[in-house]
Amino acid sequence: MASLTPKNSTNGEWCKTRIVILGGGFGGVSTAAHLERLFRRRPDVEIVLVSRDNFIVLTPLLFEVCSGTLDARHCTLPIRAYLRTTRFVEATVHDIDLDRKVVRLSDGKDRSELSYDQLVLAMGARTNRGMIPGSEHAFTFKTVADALLLRNHIIERFERADAERDPDRKRRQLTFVIIGGGLVGVELFGELTAFADQIAPLYQSVDRNEVRFVLLQGGDRLMPEIDPRLADYGTEVLRQRTGADIRTGAKVRAIEPGAVHLPDETIEAQTIVLAAGVATEPVVAALPIQKDRRGRVTVDGTMRCPSRPDVWAIGDCATIPSPSGDPYPTLAQHAMREARVLARNIFDVLDGRPPRPFVYTTLGMMGSLGHNKGFGQLIKVRVRGRLAWFVRRTYYLLQMPGWARRLRIVIDWTFALLFRPDIVKIGLDSEAVAVLREQSQTGEDSTAVIPEVDRRKQDERPSEAIGNDNQARSPVNDPASSAQQ
Ligand SMILES: Cc1cc2nc3c(=O)[nH]c(=O)nc-3n(C[C@H](O)[C@H](O)[C@H](O)COP(=O)(O)OP(=O)(O)OC[C@H]3O[C@@H](n4cnc5c(N)ncnc54)[C@H](O)[C@@H]3O)c2cc1C
Repeated sequence: MASLTPKNSTNGEWCKTRIVILGGGFGGVSTAAHLERLFRRRPDVEIVLVSRDNFIVLTPLLFEVCSGTLDARHCTLPIRAYLRTTRFVEATVHDIDLDRKVVRLSDGKDRSELSYDQLVLAMGARTNRGMIPGSEHAFTFKTVADALLLRNHIIERFERADAERDPDRKRRQLTFVIIGGGLVGVELFGELTAFADQIAPLYQSVDRNEVRFVLLQGGDRLMPEIDPRLADYGTEVLRQRTGADIRTGAKVRAIEPGAVHLPDETIEAQTIVLAAGVATEPVVAALPIQKDRRGRVTVDGTMRCPSRPDVWAIGDCATIPSPSGDPYPTLAQHAMREARVLARNIFDVLDGRPPRPFVYTTLGMMGSLGHNKGFGQLIKVRVRGRLAWFVRRTYYLLQMPGWARRLRIVIDWTFALLFRPDIVKIGLDSEAVAVLREQSQTGEDSTAVIPEVDRRKQDERPSEAIGNDNQARSPVNDPASSAQQ
């Protein structure tokens, strides 16, 4: 049994056994919840969860945040409200000293250290920006902020296109490229094409036929993660959308502001989204432990790090072997199941029992295509169309803990069924920044210091509005500039 150990011999203070979980996503928060339950009568054990945001995101609902179907907060859950006895620390993990058993944290201003007895790595993954040169010019789609930035940027493109008289510039404003034809890229494509159908009538000078969506997939079919028949169904549905241009075998060579370079073609677009592959968090990548070629921590079947028995890893940042030897897929449903076994293993190990391996069969996969259509495989049954869309929605609704959040989601969904989507684009500029920008635009105060991103924003205005046709001055598709929109 984990004992109260006198760790501080100078003052004889009794310290608890501390389990530190890094990352407040599906894996981390579920692990904390299971540990709470297992250790509920054990005051000698302290559970600490560290994450950079104080909420967990239900990622399958993120697409609907982008289209405005769901309010951004409604696809999230505050970690503090979900967990009871875990100590939550909102901070960024800077690095981990495995020899000293210490995690270094930063809250933006100050640095601090947190010691651990058992460490759980659950930091997920981030979009791989190292694969395609110029990836920094593309939007990513992983976080709530990503979804909001992209939403604002897309609405801004429609606003600009509506005022644009130059056909080339207008075409660029209304071309949206998604790189990556996996599940995330496909679901985003489906949601955005449906969103465009619904909002285009609000713009008098934008014809929906002028809006073009390009999906670029390097492999020979979309959604290689799912059953080929379902992937074909999804591809066929999306191909029929107005302005859809879906390409397989399309290997992107490079991205630059406003352009995607293929081997024999350049696609000009003001919106480029990168949804092609993930990479491990730098903190995890820097750890001197065994990792696979994608940088994920290699653990044994019990999710324990072979060279560091006090370190465990779970979810997207880990590679966990299944009984067949193949690693489990990196999915939310797996991360949540892994969490239950991992918590039990830590409990057993602290009690002197051996840990058990994680064994799980994927229940199925589901995806949404927008316009109330979806697809899914549930164990062996394939579903498609409206039924799949309904099953998927119901499933994720029930995955959201707590009836208050569920009710909010249902209200959002009901409104979305009855009314046209909202095109409100709330800027994140403070009033002071907005005033400075206006002064600089009118020449009132040429010395006004405006953040760089705001200067770029001025250059993006349509030619007619600023009486300037100088396309060369129009840096586009810079996610940073959208932050101010
Ligand atoms: C748009 C989208 C849709 C998806 N749809 C599905 C789906 O339909 N079904 C499905 O099963 N899976 C889906 N997934 C995959 C699923 O979200 C992941 O597999 C799952 O989130 C992995 O859980 P995790 O706990 O490992 O990581 P995450 O949930 O990513 O959590 C990692 C956490 O660690 C935090 N963190 C990272 N680095 C640091 C640091 N240095 N300091 C502090 N905190 C840090 C992050 O902020 C985050 O809170 C989707 C993913 C995306 C992006």
